[in-house]
Amino acid sequence: MKVNHHALELEQNYLFSEVAKRIRKYHAEYPERELLKLSIGDVTRPLSRIITEEMKTAAEEMSHAETFHGYGAEQGEPFLREAIAAYYHKRGIAVDAEDVFVSDGAKCDLGNLCDLFDADNTVLLPNPVYPVYYDTSIMAGRRVIFADGTKENGFLPMPDHSVHADIIYLCSPNNPTGAVYSKEQLAEWVQYAQENSALILFDAAYEAYIRDPELPHSIFEIAGAANCAIEINSLSKTAGFTGVRCGWTVVPRTLQFDGASLHDMWFRRMATKYNGTSYIIQRAAAKVFTEEGLRAVQQDIDYYMENARILKEALAKAGIHSVGGENAPYVWMQCPENADSWTFFDTLLYQYGIAGTPGVGFGTAGQGWLRFSSFGTRETVTKAAAYLAAL
Ligand SMILES: *Cc1c(COP(=O)(O)O)cnc(C)c1O
Repeated sequence: MKVNHHALELEQNYLFSEVAKRIRKYHAEYPERELLKLSIGDVTRPLSRIITEEMKTAAEEMSHAETFHGYGAEQGEPFLREAIAAYYHKRGIAVDAEDVFVSDGAKCDLGNLCDLFDADNTVLLPNPVYPVYYDTSIMAGRRVIFADGTKENGFLPMPDHSVHADIIYLCSPNNPTGAVYSKEQLAEWVQYAQENSALILFDAAYEAYIRDPELPHSIFEIAGAANCAIEINSLSKTAGFTGVRCGWTVVPRTLQFDGASLHDMWFRRMATKYNGTSYIIQRAAAKVFTEEGLRAVQQDIDYYMENARILKEALAKAGIHSVGGENAPYVWMQCPENADSWTFFDTLLYQYGIAGTPGVGFGTAGQGWLRFSSFGTRETVTKAAAYLAAL
């Protein structure tokens, strides 16, 4: 038996385990001091009552022969796929329910999509970015190249037209930087994909946090994208579904690569290795897309975005440069005095009891930066902001 040697090329999940290790050490040394945790990449607000009530109703249906549900439709229940398509239509974006595939989350889809692509492909990744794109590409044995985010480009790297790539991952709003591409910038990425006969994998997990009405929520707002892009999304951050699990991927039937339909390939892949998202969860997900559902989840999004505003305001007072936080739940700050990410992480932890996430953990271009998450409580954020303003 031979193992997949590419799986051994992965670095250990160093970032989050190292953050946890340093926090444990701090707690052991200063057991009486409070920890202000701005490092969480998970939501903290409970699910809206109307969502959990819908789960209960659906669970009750399961206990009666007349309303019991076994295996569901392969791509997801039509009522949910239609609700997702309608969510796009409200913004004037043409997405067909037929092209929507319901899943148990965006991370799973991002990993599973790798089944459709040959190992012999060059993957282009923004740097820094969500580590899943890199890890799943390495596991599949692909070459990876980077487009670096910098202070100068506002952590919105643009394509180098002299460099070839086959698969491009974009994350907008970005985790960890909170930066969001404009329509013009996405149009240039689509153009680059067309020049290279490349595929864009667009992760829109934070689209619901966009407030600026000019910014695009979906790659399908860009002309030509239906011929070169797949969009991955999830209710994890939009509706607090991190522990519930429901996402979706849009694979347009217009996508043709290497003489094959990616839509048909994805359908076959999902039918082979996945047996559907729980009916109860799909009902809860459909509830999110109702008028009252969207209103309820918006309250939590507003709560997190007020946290982001407070953090950003504090950094501005201290004269510290930051990006993000206006259309995304992450604030990305430059470490003062050219400190590196881990040194400044320790400084914040030991001087103020504030935990951030070192930017370098999301890629080499994150060196010298730190990520704050706004998913904490208002109390934590307010206390941390008072210290940050005085940095
Ligand atoms: C949190 C997050 C997701 C969501 O993943 P799920 O598996 O749906 O919980 C996707 N992409 C990015 C960039 C994220 O930060």
